[in-house]
Amino acid sequence: GSLAELDTELVRCRACPRLVAWREETAAQPRAAFRGQEYWARPVPGFGPADAALAIVGLAPAAHGGNRTGRMFTGDASGDFLFAALHAVGLASRPTATDRDDGLELYGVRVTAPVHCAPPENRPTPAERRTCRPWLSAELQLLGPSLRAVVALGAVGWQALLPVLGETGWPLPRPRPAFGHGVRLTLPATGQRRELQVLGSYHPSQRNTFTGRLTSDMLIELLAEAAEAAGL
Ligand code: SF4
Repeated sequence: GSLAELDTELVRCRACPRLVAWREETAAQPRAAFRGQEYWARPVPGFGPADAALAIVGLAPAAHGGNRTGRMFTGDASGDFLFAALHAVGLASRPTATDRDDGLELYGVRVTAPVHCAPPENRPTPAERRTCRPWLSAELQLLGPSLRAVVALGAVGWQALLPVLGETGWPLPRPRPAFGHGVRLTLPATGQRRELQVLGSYHPSQRNTFTGRLTSDMLIELLAEAAEAAGL
């Protein structure tokens, strides 16, 4: 199958009852600013070209962000922060993302998440994470031939990503290295896989950006390093 086929299949997934209910419930109660808009209210596929050299792995779509617009990181404050930084390093055609049809293009980058439906309080349960994991695994498998670097956003993204990379064929170091902003791992090439650089970054959530824990300069610097590692 192709990545486009995988995305079509993903959008029909109803495997997590609590998240199916939540994605529909938030759509039925739009924020005042979004009243009158039709929410996507389905699983949100990864965004970016099928031959991306760099993947950015977040946590899950936001109820009034990706769950509304149907595109990863599109239409919320975290996404505004991320796309501005991607644009600053030349990986996005424009600094803002408003909806699925805004014409934004990513260059060599695919933005995705280990959980594809918006969870209550942005917190998927361990069971939901396990249930959704094969989708990310399949996505990375399909990106495999072009993929050279991955950025994990936040400790949760890091913890979700490493086992998926292990399943996808890269040998993981033991013990697993702890998450940190700027932590970088090199997973060596194997028979079927080329060498992969894995970088940790603080998540561009408002909790981090409002407090200055993650500044745009920090994110730009990290994405520039990731782009270089990916040969972009
Ligand atoms: Fe399916 Fe993942 Fe959504 Fe669960 S979170 S319903 S596994 S797409």
